[in-house]
Amino acid sequence: MTHSLLVVEDEQDIRELLEYNLSRDGFHVRTAETGEQALQAVSSIPPDLILLDLMLPGIDGLEVCRRLKSDGQTANIPIVMLTAKDTEGDVVTGLEMGADDYVTKPFSPKVVVARAKAVLRRRAEATYGEDEVLTFGDLTIHPGRHQVLIKERPLDLTHSEFRVLHYLSRRPGWVFTRYQLVDAVHGEKHAVSDRSVDVMIVGLRRKLGDCGHMVETVRGVGYRFRA
Ligand code: CA
Repeated sequence: MTHSLLVVEDEQDIRELLEYNLSRDGFHVRTAETGEQALQAVSSIPPDLILLDLMLPGIDGLEVCRRLKSDGQTANIPIVMLTAKDTEGDVVTGLEMGADDYVTKPFSPKVVVARAKAVLRRRAEATYGEDEVLTFGDLTIHPGRHQVLIKERPLDLTHSEFRVLHYLSRRPGWVFTRYQLVDAVHGEKHAVSDRSVDVMIVGLRRKLGDCGHMVETVRGVGYRFRA
């Protein structure tokens, strides 16, 4: 199946590089140079995925992301953000708006192609159900029993540690911000500091022992589960 992609990038070199490499990989590629063009292109023919530069003239990438994610017609189109190194804050904001992933410039086109494919694949796979038992090597998570086992030995996790681990492990490979994890554990608008999430993760990793590396830090952004 040919997937259609929209590349939104104002820098001509990068736009053409991506268009060339993605087309060669079998994607049907359209391009937009501005946020306005991007919104227009999406509303005329919705793509399967959007590669969205954040630093755009006019309507910037974050605003494009916000508008697409707040419109029911376009909210489900996956977005991979293209970002500069010094814009970690924007990455966090974008992920919280619902963007799926990001690639930091300068990037190799191969990485972008791989990332786009991974996002489309993850979208195609149904995410694990709320009560489904999850097994990753030695680690087993029993949502129904609120229990985590390593090599069949039960761990003594706090409620919050369990919720965070379960939340992350239901979507392996996805990056979640601290704010999203706080929401997952305590419900929305609960006042918990970023720092307390970090402290909890440290404790969780220690209890996970040999499986602790499965909870990865994504520097400046948040955390992800790596099976
Ligand atoms: Ca740009």
